[in-house]
Amino acid sequence: MESQKKYSPVYSVEFFPPKSEEGAEKLRKVRKNLNKGMQPRYYSVTFGAGGSTQQGTFDTVAEIQKSGDDAAPHLSCIGTTKDGLRELLSGYKENGIKRIVALRGDMPSGMRGPGELRYANELVEFIRAETGDYFELEVAAYPEIHPQAPSASDDLKNFKRKVEAGADTAITQYFFNPDAYFRFIDECERMNVDLPIIPGIMPIINYKQLSRFSDMCGADIPRWIRKRLEDFGDDKESIKQFGEEVITDLCHTLLEAGAPGLHFYCMNQSAPTLAIWKNLGIQN
Ligand code: FAD
Repeated sequence: MESQKKYSPVYSVEFFPPKSEEGAEKLRKVRKNLNKGMQPRYYSVTFGAGGSTQQGTFDTVAEIQKSGDDAAPHLSCIGTTKDGLRELLSGYKENGIKRIVALRGDMPSGMRGPGELRYANELVEFIRAETGDYFELEVAAYPEIHPQAPSASDDLKNFKRKVEAGADTAITQYFFNPDAYFRFIDECERMNVDLPIIPGIMPIINYKQLSRFSDMCGADIPRWIRKRLEDFGDDKESIKQFGEEVITDLCHTLLEAGAPGLHFYCMNQSAPTLAIWKNLGIQN
C-alpha cells in the first residue's frame, strides 16, 4: 500500500442520470444534502452504452457544473464512433467540464457491435490525442477481476495499458473484501503502475438489487454478509443498520491502510452515504 500513501485523499460521489423531471428534482435535493454533509470533491454521472441515457448524462453534468460543483461524466467507447466522441468531448469542454471517467462500457444485449474503439485504453489514448492534458481522466479498476478477463494477470496487464495510455486516477469496482484491494495495489506496485487507485464503495441498501448487480459485475458478496442479509428479508431497518456498520468498517480499514479516498456509488440517495460518512468522522 506504500504507493498510495503519498496521494491526498479524494472523496467523490456517483449518480446515475435521472429519467424524469421528478427524478431530476429529487437529485437536486440529494446533492444539496451531500454538499452540506460531506462536500465531495466532485460528482460523477454514469453513461449508458448504446445510447439509452447519454443525453441524460450530458444534461445532468452540465447542470451540476453550472451550479458550481465539479461534475465528471462517465464516457464509454463501445458502440460509438470517433466523431460522436469528438462531439461529446467538445460539448463537455464548452460546459467547463474538466474530468472524465473513461470506460469501455457494456453493450445492452441485442445492440450492435463494438464501434471504432474496442477497449478503455483506446479511449484514453483517443481523448489524449484529441484534447491533450485538458481533462483529468479516471479509469476503472477491478480488484476482484473483470468478469470477462481471461485471467487475473491478463486483467492486470490490461489495467496497465489504460494507465500507460494516460489515465490520472483509477476508481475500483465495489468490493466487500479489503484484501482484494490490498492485493491489487501490491500487484500494481510490482508492475510499476503508480497512480491513485480509489476504492469504489457501495452502501448496502437493498439486498435483491445488490445481489443482482454483484452477479453482473463480478463483485463477491461474502457468505457472512449474504446470509445475514437473507435473514433480514424485508426488514429495511435491520438491513440499513447492518449495512452501515459493515461499510463503515470497510472504509475505516481501507483508509487506515492508506487508500487515497473513497468513491461512493450512492444510488441517487444521500442518507446511506451520509450515515457512513458521519461514522467515519472525516474532516473534508
Ligand atoms: P476495459 O478496461 O476495456 O476492460 C474490459 C475487459 O477487456 C477486461 O476484461 C479487460 O481485461 C479486457 N481488456 C482491456 N483492454 C484490453 C485490450 N487492449 N486487449 C484485450 N483485452 C482487453 N458501465 C457503463 O455502461 N456506464 C458507466 O457509467 C459505468 N461506470 C463505471 C464506473 C466505474 C468506476 C466502474 C468500475 C465501472 C463502470 N461501468 C460502467 C462498468 C464498465 O463499463 C464495465 O465493467 C465494462 O465491462 C468494462 O469497462 P472498462 O472501462 O473497465 O473496460
